[in-house]
Amino acid sequence: MSQVIVTGAASGIGRACAEVLVAEGHHVALWDLVPEVLDVAAGLGMTGQIVDVTGDLDAPVAVAAETLGGLSGLVHAAGRVAVEPVGAFTAASWDAVLDVNLRAHALLVQAMLPWLQKATNASVVAISSIEGLAANPFIPAYCASKAGLLGLTRSMAAQLGPEGIRVNSVCPGFIITPMIQPALDIDEIRIGFEQAAPLGRMGQPVEIAHAVAFLLSDKASFITGTELVVDGGLICKH
Ligand code: NAD
Repeated sequence: MSQVIVTGAASGIGRACAEVLVAEGHHVALWDLVPEVLDVAAGLGMTGQIVDVTGDLDAPVAVAAETLGGLSGLVHAAGRVAVEPVGAFTAASWDAVLDVNLRAHALLVQAMLPWLQKATNASVVAISSIEGLAANPFIPAYCASKAGLLGLTRSMAAQLGPEGIRVNSVCPGFIITPMIQPALDIDEIRIGFEQAAPLGRMGQPVEIAHAVAFLLSDKASFITGTELVVDGGLICKH
């Protein structure tokens, strides 16, 4: 049994992670910027918290720890993307992507540390992306944030391993969620996404959630400092 914060839990991958973790018997605090998270949490019989992960984290972490009776896990699924090639992004739009995707993960682990240090089988999972492993010319800030998560994962795993805290990332391929819906609305792009992976389709959020649940579980007790690619084989092709 674990006590897990899931960010980005109102939608897509974060919501699926919360659903799978609750089904497996974990206690989950569902966090999101949008109030819909309260309904999702209520539907699961869990606590919802409206939290902007770019803001203060100490107070909401303390609330989650109090409500759940401790904290042993984190799934950082909150994320944003900006289709802004070099020449288009601004300092502000760059920061907006990096702050949610990367900086928030570091600061959230920091805020949770006193509880993670007390927990048994403490485990942290960041939702990175195949865009952190391979080039996408249209979303440089997003690629930088997702590659940054992989470096951050390795650094935190090296530091926190001696305390029994495992730190890993999951790298999804193309997953059908609201984040990529604008691209899916364009037939040519949707068909390209479907055909890009050897498995010949895009993924469902629950298929990422099962990988996350594995990394959080004690079945992954010797796995830390690495990433699990869940992409239908997309990046193994050249
Ligand atoms: P989504 O848009 O369905 O969900 C993202 C959630 O993050 C939303 O509910 C949003 O409100 C929340 N969020 C955004 N900014 C926030 C903030 N400042 N504070 C708190 N919550 C905030 O998208 P998704 O596809 O489910 O994305 C989940 C994660 O998966 C993201 O990190 C995304 O980069 C990553 N990812 C998605 C795909 C894909 O193909 N969908 C592929 C690889 C990685």
